[in-house]
Amino acid sequence: MRFIYLLFFFIVSFFSLSCNEQHISSSVVVPTVEVIDDTTSDNNTTGEVIDDTTSDNNTTGEVIDDTTSDNNTTGEVIDDTTSDNNTTGEVIDDTTSDNNTTGEVIDDTLINTTKLYWPIDCIPGQNCTIGHADINSDGLAFDCSKPGYTGHEGIDISISWEQMDEGVNVYAAQSGTVLWAFDNPSAYDRCIANDKHQDCKAPSSGLEPNLNDGYAVCTELGNYCRKDSGYSQCFWCFYGKNIVVIRHDTGSVEFTRYDHLKSGSILIKEGDYVSRGQKIAEVGSAGHSTGPHLHFEVWLNDYYDLAEPFSGECGPNYNNSLWNYENTPWKINTE
Ligand SMILES: [Zn+2]
Repeated sequence: MRFIYLLFFFIVSFFSLSCNEQHISSSVVVPTVEVIDDTTSDNNTTGEVIDDTTSDNNTTGEVIDDTTSDNNTTGEVIDDTTSDNNTTGEVIDDTTSDNNTTGEVIDDTLINTTKLYWPIDCIPGQNCTIGHADINSDGLAFDCSKPGYTGHEGIDISISWEQMDEGVNVYAAQSGTVLWAFDNPSAYDRCIANDKHQDCKAPSSGLEPNLNDGYAVCTELGNYCRKDSGYSQCFWCFYGKNIVVIRHDTGSVEFTRYDHLKSGSILIKEGDYVSRGQKIAEVGSAGHSTGPHLHFEVWLNDYYDLAEPFSGECGPNYNNSLWNYENTPWKINTE
């Protein structure tokens, strides 16, 4: 929301620059509602400005679009309350997100805080890569591409060692209470494939409550059983060494899990309340890991009830993305 406030501030300053000259033609074009629109009236190609709020203080909305008129690089704002009757405004901004020149539309009807926030400070295809989940083990990711590997239970978002050393933030994908946080500050967090370091290897003994051995960490025995398990006491083990699981009290999923975090980077502890988008740690390569990446996992309605947040024709989530902003959630981390 802070981002939106900044842009509204920008609206104000932009009006002061542009409105006087545009009003010269407005009285001729559409005198009854004090709207200026120089594309529909004269078919020129120099852009358009519509502003019916500063002139008459009505409530029917306002539009500013300054890309075609002045080619500036400071961003642009559209707020058309008349198009969707929302109350929070809409934003077009093609400078802060990807510096392209063609413009993009971020419609805040898609900024849906009940959906998941992109949990890492990187943009796939730009400065990180995705290995997709395959939670139904059919060898296909949601979009029918190859997953990270067959049966992959989460999404791996990979960065370089240099990025890891500089620090790449991991964010809470939704608000909630930290259920488990394992931070082993002295653990080796630069594991690679087949790494012989003790902290990168399988535990030397069987899994049991409170185990912290090799790449494995296990919870205490507690009221952590799946609804259909028939047990009253359960524990869970994770192979990410430094991991966080958050239980959400809002939104459409119950838990999110973050693995392989950089040792000593975890900023929260069990029982803490965290807000959607809050930094909780940094990316590492701790535990059963082949390089620096975030393993991000979604549990929909129960412990380990794996879900695919991306929607696509190869499923298992076919229609409704669990992400904010559909299948490109990283685009609105500037909200
Ligand atoms: Zn993974």
